[in-house]
Formats: sequence, C-alpha cells, structure tokens
Amino acid sequence: MVSVFQQDFTKKQVCFLASVHGMIQEALAELGYSEEVFELLKAPQRTLTVRIPVKMDNGQVRVFTGYRVQHSFSVGPTKGGVLFHTEVSEPLLHGLSLMNSLKNGLLNIPFGGAKGGVLCEPRELSVRELELLSRGYIQAIRSVIGPYLDIPAPDIFTNSQVMAWMMDEYSKMCPDQSAGFITGKPIVLGGLKSREHASGRGIVLFISEAARKKGINLSRATAIIQGFGELGGYVAQSLADSGVTITGLSDAYGAVYDPDGLDLTHLIACRDSFGTITKLHEHSLTSQQLLGKPCDIMVLAAVANQITGRASQKINSSLVVEAAEDAVSDDAAEWMTQNGILFLPEILTSSGDMTASYIEWAQNRQGLIWSKQEGEMRVRQILADAFERIHHIAEERSISMRSAAFLAGVYKIAESARTRGWL
Ligand code: GLU
Repeated sequence: MVSVFQQDFTKKQVCFLASVHGMIQEALAELGYSEEVFELLKAPQRTLTVRIPVKMDNGQVRVFTGYRVQHSFSVGPTKGGVLFHTEVSEPLLHGLSLMNSLKNGLLNIPFGGAKGGVLCEPRELSVRELELLSRGYIQAIRSVIGPYLDIPAPDIFTNSQVMAWMMDEYSKMCPDQSAGFITGKPIVLGGLKSREHASGRGIVLFISEAARKKGINLSRATAIIQGFGELGGYVAQSLADSGVTITGLSDAYGAVYDPDGLDLTHLIACRDSFGTITKLHEHSLTSQQLLGKPCDIMVLAAVANQITGRASQKINSSLVVEAAEDAVSDDAAEWMTQNGILFLPEILTSSGDMTASYIEWAQNRQGLIWSKQEGEMRVRQILADAFERIHHIAEERSISMRSAAFLAGVYKIAESARTRGWL
C-alpha cells in the first residue's frame, strides 16, 4: 500500500486509492463476489462538501471548506474521525473513509466507515477561531450526522476539547441524542475512561497475542522499536514493563542498539518532544541498519516505506509489527509471511482507538459509566477476537495478515450489502 501523507500529494492519493482498490478486488475474487460488488465498494456512498464562514479575530470573515465522507451504509451507521489539516481534500477523505469501512468490518463492529475534515492550518488559529470553526463544521454537516447515522471522533489536529465543542453544538439541535453523537469526548461529558493511549494499548495487545502464537516468552524476548515518539515510546515502555528487553531504538536521525538491552528510563528522560534520542548517544547507527539486527519483536512506529521488496530479506525477527501507516510494502509482507515471519499490518494494529470509540458509543447509548478496567476489558475482547479471526484466515489460506485483514473487512461490508438485497 502507498502512504497518503507524503509530498507529491495528489499523485500519492491516486496511488494509495489504486493500491487499496487492488487489494479489495483481490479479496472479492477470493471470496467469490462479482464485479458489481466492487462498483459499490470502490467509492463512498455519500460525500458532503460544505463552506463554513468564520468571523476571525481581526474582524474579517474567512470561509473554510469542509467535508464529511461516508463510505458504506451496508453495515450500520458510519464512523470515523475529523481532521483539521492543510492537506484535507475530498479524494484523501474518500480513501480514508474506505479504510475505516474495512477496519470496522475486520473488527466486526456494527459501523461502516466515514471520515471528515476541514481544510485549514489549525496551528494558525486562535482558540476562539478554532471553537467557531468546530461549531460551524457541525452546523454545516448536521443533516448527515447523528448517533444512529454517522458518529465523528478526533483525528489529526482535533482533540477531546474540539469534540466537546462539537457535542455542545449538536446538543443545541438534538439535546436528547447528544451523548452518543460523537466519541473521544472528555470523560466528564461521557468519554471513555480508558481512551488515553487506546492506540498504544491496542498495539501491545496484538504483540502479546502474536507472541503467544509464535511461542515467544515476553519475559525473555528482545525488541527493536523504530520510532520513539509518543506511540513508539508508549509501546517500548509497555513492552519493557512486561519483561521485554529493548535492544534497539531509532529516531529521525539514527538509531541506538545494545544487545544487552538499552536503559529505557534514561532514554525516555533524555527524549525531546520530537522523540529524538540519538543525538545524545555516542554509538549511533542508521535506522535501516537497525532493522537488520536480530530480535524477537520488531515494531515499525516511525514513517512509511521502511521494509520494501528485497529489504525484507535482511529482517532477523520472528514478529514484525507495522504500527506506522504503510511501513511495509505488500511484496515485503508476502515475503515475510512465506518465510515464517508473523507480520501484523497497520490496518489491524491501529484499530485500538476505533474500538475504544465503539465502546464509548455503546456506553453512552446505555447511559452507563464504565470503570477504566471495564472499558479496557471490553476493548481487549474485541481486539483479541479480531486477531484470532484474522490469524486463522491467514493460516488457513496461506496469505499475509494484511491480505487476511482485507478479506475479513471486505466480507463484512459486501455480505451485509448482499443480505440486505442490494446486490
Ligand atoms: N482516528 C480514527 C479514524 O477515523 C477515529 C475513529 C473513531 O474513533 O471513530 O481513523
């Protein structure tokens, strides 16, 4: 697959969509569905483009463009985040809404996929302007959202405060339905107590499930983590807490490696806000050299295109975890699978926050407040079940976990549409 957030953006979006379409067509053929099903899945069922006027702090009105893209209504309401970003466009959100349909499908949670966004540079907006934009966006898309229609959530450059403003705006129109209208809310407004680090916890859960399959004992295992930002740092610390020895870490400038284990506490203390550590270390090697070092678990939590083509042959690890979008190419994923390396794809490993959103929505619909442990346990059950199903499909058909994840996702959407009588 091809990453969507890169330079040469338009071309990348076209490549990204083409590679996702290719994977969907393969899955449909494998499952025995007709070409008509691809016609339904290849593009979103609804796209709304809106123009949002905001009175800026200098007194002038600026009009922002926003979108809500809903990929598939066959399973149930649609679900997905809202990003405030300078690269927001309809084709980008189209691809991301499709990925969310597949993700919800493979998790077997009762949603189709959606994605929304506003074209803006949020870091240049004042808090007041950001609030007006968030409220204006909800006003503009109000006809297509709701707790039983389409449920937004945080994404790049939006957070729980933005969700709170959006919820408040929605509750002015539909006061009785506001709690389950949006997820990723602050805890006081019905947010899930275990939402924080939901993505990182998901990755760690998948690693422990996969380690069990591979017979890796975590308390005797070694791990290399590429990327030491918020996510990579969380995963490194959690694995270390489970007894794993972290032997390698890398940042944007290079890597550190010690076969006897790195001093994680020291490195975390030295890390700056960009996850940089190697500048402080004397024995640096490159991030690519680090990928060839032996370990039991390798986590790719940095950037795209880290293991592609022949580079997969240098991997000396029995478990490779793709935590960054498109870190591993399709051919490398296949090569690793055929050579006994268990590869966990990003579409699966990144599903922790979507699952936490589903549990938050379920909590709100029932008017309950679950404890942190209870919320976490419910999320874990869904993720562990998804892992087991995808692993089973991959083993049974001798395909990569990425192909298996696409198969499970496509099946859920296509079969729901077929049984409704759409196809
Ligand atoms: N950032 C997630 C996405 O859209 C949020 C999903 C959700 O929680 O609804 O991919």
